Amino acid sequence: MKINVIRGTHQFGGNAVKVTSDSGSAIVLDFGAEFAVNGGRAIVAEGITAGKPGVLGVLISHSHKDHAGLIHTILPGVPVYMDRIAGRIYRTYSEVTGRPEAAAAGKMKALPPLGGKIEFGDITVTPFLSDHGTYRSEMFLAEADGKRLLYTGDFRLHGLLRSELLSGLGSLRGTVDLLITEATCAGRGDEYSTYVPSERTLEKSVLEFLGKSPVILFCSIINIDRIAGLSGLVKDKGGRVFVSWAEKRVIDEAVKDDAPPAAFYQNLSIPETYDSSLFADIGKGDLIFTSSFEDFRILSGMIPSAELVFTEWPGNLAHMNSAFREDPRFHVMHVSGHAHPAELREFAEFLLPRAVLPVHTSSPEKCAELLEGFRVLPLQDGEDFSL
Ligand SMILES: [Zn+2]
Ligand SMILES: [Zn+2]
Repeated sequence: MKINVIRGTHQFGGNAVKVTSDSGSAIVLDFGAEFAVNGGRAIVAEGITAGKPGVLGVLISHSHKDHAGLIHTILPGVPVYMDRIAGRIYRTYSEVTGRPEAAAAGKMKALPPLGGKIEFGDITVTPFLSDHGTYRSEMFLAEADGKRLLYTGDFRLHGLLRSELLSGLGSLRGTVDLLITEATCAGRGDEYSTYVPSERTLEKSVLEFLGKSPVILFCSIINIDRIAGLSGLVKDKGGRVFVSWAEKRVIDEAVKDDAPPAAFYQNLSIPETYDSSLFADIGKGDLIFTSSFEDFRILSGMIPSAELVFTEWPGNLAHMNSAFREDPRFHVMHVSGHAHPAELREFAEFLLPRAVLPVHTSSPEKCAELLEGFRVLPLQDGEDFSL
């Protein structure tokens, strides 16, 4: 089995990893758009975006654009796969946000549900549940030539699905030849987890605010896990949950399924869409989600009693003017979607892989330090590694 990281050994965002069996069957794991700060470059790859189709499938781990955002550049003869519901959510998200890959997202094929397998020539892939905040983020186990690799996509161990993630992977312990892990936070130092809250800490803080006032909470339109978790807690306390039409459309894709969704997601059927007439009687205990900077600003003016909670990456605050950010009601509570440094170590010790390849990181050497005692591969983009 041969591994080639097309992009991602020395940057986060824009992941693509090619896996080829000894007989020549090939797949690609993720095909993400690069962040603008890194140049926003396309991927030009023979057999994937150029020439004749040379891979049997591109598998998308989750619905973030830095993992799925270049699927529209893939050759028409190369099928793209994703979890069935996550794929619908991605198509809707792409449509409501006007992203160029919306049409390609509508044509994606469905991966088998958790517990199932799918074959690409002599490569067998098994999806596993991850925890990253987006609905049904997945890790992929790829097996061929008597070897096993696990690709994590993006994940964390401080989210709402930690125990489901770990219990799902329990049978793989000590059996994985190569762990291709995201290592976004590898360079952030051990103290990182002491000042970045977990999802549970965020929920506790929001509930405290809701005890005295309404809350307007900014989070990504596809952070459905956060919306589901908080919706359930608010509903239990008799509060109301509102989203805009855009979030509502995306959430509806998660709950309209014929198969019963996991209990965790059943809370999602609650949110109502908001309009200005709703806010006359808004009060403590009511929670309004928004993923629009414009709506966040407008809503904050319409509901002067509301606390304002911003939960996304603080770097995105550049979109908001400083007067808004200085409002005493404004709180930044960013919960990372990525494994903290200590969690990268914890995960490696849990899985006990024979070798580790960090991707989705600008600090692969820091990851090697964190994982002292493990064999950590120093690979470059485009370099072949034989497993
Ligand atoms: Zn990512
Ligand atoms: Zn992600």
